[in-house]
Amino acid sequence: MKIGILTIGNELTSGRTQDTNSSMMARVFSTQGWQVRLMMSVGDDELLIKQALGYVLAQSDAVVVTGGLGPTADDITTAAIARAFGLPLCRNEAVLQHIRGIFEKYRLNWTENNAKQADFPEGAEVIPNPVGTAAGFALKQKGKVIAVIPGVPREVRKMLPEGVLPILRREFPEAARHVAVRTIKTFGLSEAAVDQALADLDPAHTGVGIGFYPNFPENHIVLTASDADESLATARVEEAREAVIRRLKKHIFAYDSETLEGLVAKSLIERGRTLAVAESCTGGLVTDRLTDIPGSSAFLERSVITYSNSAKTELLGVPADMIEIHGAVSEQTARSMAEGVRRLARTNLGLAITGIAGPTGGSDQKPVGTVYIALADGTETLCRRHAFRWDRRRNKIISSQAALLMLKRHLDGERDDG
Ligand code: ATP
Ligand code: MG
Repeated sequence: MKIGILTIGNELTSGRTQDTNSSMMARVFSTQGWQVRLMMSVGDDELLIKQALGYVLAQSDAVVVTGGLGPTADDITTAAIARAFGLPLCRNEAVLQHIRGIFEKYRLNWTENNAKQADFPEGAEVIPNPVGTAAGFALKQKGKVIAVIPGVPREVRKMLPEGVLPILRREFPEAARHVAVRTIKTFGLSEAAVDQALADLDPAHTGVGIGFYPNFPENHIVLTASDADESLATARVEEAREAVIRRLKKHIFAYDSETLEGLVAKSLIERGRTLAVAESCTGGLVTDRLTDIPGSSAFLERSVITYSNSAKTELLGVPADMIEIHGAVSEQTARSMAEGVRRLARTNLGLAITGIAGPTGGSDQKPVGTVYIALADGTETLCRRHAFRWDRRRNKIISSQAALLMLKRHLDGERDDG
């Protein structure tokens, strides 16, 4: 099935709002095995909406439209589409009652222009909005389907799977294919290197689409196969997944919805181990990521952000002369921070990060991007030196990634050899 996407709103064409609806919807359609033929954005202008709709519809079996369903005068999508097909607007009493109900519930002042959101082109099927006032609608015209929903991304996320997809599947039953999707998450290889390593997995032979999605500092590989037969689609994707694993094994750290911090948290909880963290250049980023995981209090005892030399000495017991001699960014200081925070927190593990995020503060021996990460477990203290080459923000992000990965490998009993 060929799909067209049309997003409407002056905020899009003026650049005030980025059109995230298009890419979000395109991702959903591609996981259905449907092809998005084109995406287009126009302002709140009746003639443009009509012309754009005609153009997009000519290239597609179905068009999904977002935006301009609000109560104000500049929201003209419904009226423009009705006129494009020569249909009168009809008031839907059930929708009107629903909107009035919301106004009463939140004690909002009713104004008559709100009733406009209960008007739909004649013959349209209403698409309910469980999270807002503006309902959507679907129209059938000459065997094609036009589905229209509000522009608010939160409402799109809800109404697309719950309202639009069931209508499209019903109207195009032959397009309802089973789609198998697997995501493989890698770290430590550039996008080009990933692409190169997988170059021989030709979709024309394997029947499996390969998508590359850089998500700094990770590179995600998404494999998809669609087939009328569900088990065939699954088997094809599994075979391709094993081929990818054979080629990239060392760099893979997670699959599908797994995250690095989620896996670290799971591992710590399963093994009943506790953690304390001392962060310098990451400014709390490692802790931020770990505390994103519900239940993190089960393993995280404390974190300290020791940015200055004196903080490292006062809060972690790093000897002042050690910092004096070797520097705050050094293997000795990183080890002492990890051991210090572990000792003070009385945890199984102590993790420490100290480095130079940039753009200033580098030297010949320790250029910007030099980061030491240490992990103390009471028996031994591991330490690794990294040489990152990004800007300040990305050096912080990639440092947090390297620290979490070091922790994960240690918990998994792997040697951390790069
Ligand atoms: P509502 O009645 O809920 O306001 P609406 O259909 O009128 O719905 P709009 O007024 O067009 O929606 O947009 C509502 C919000 O959604 C605005 O903040 C707008 O910036 C945002 N928005 C609209 N279209 C998009 C889009 N394509 N991508 C991302 N955000 C969008
Ligand atoms: Mg609008």
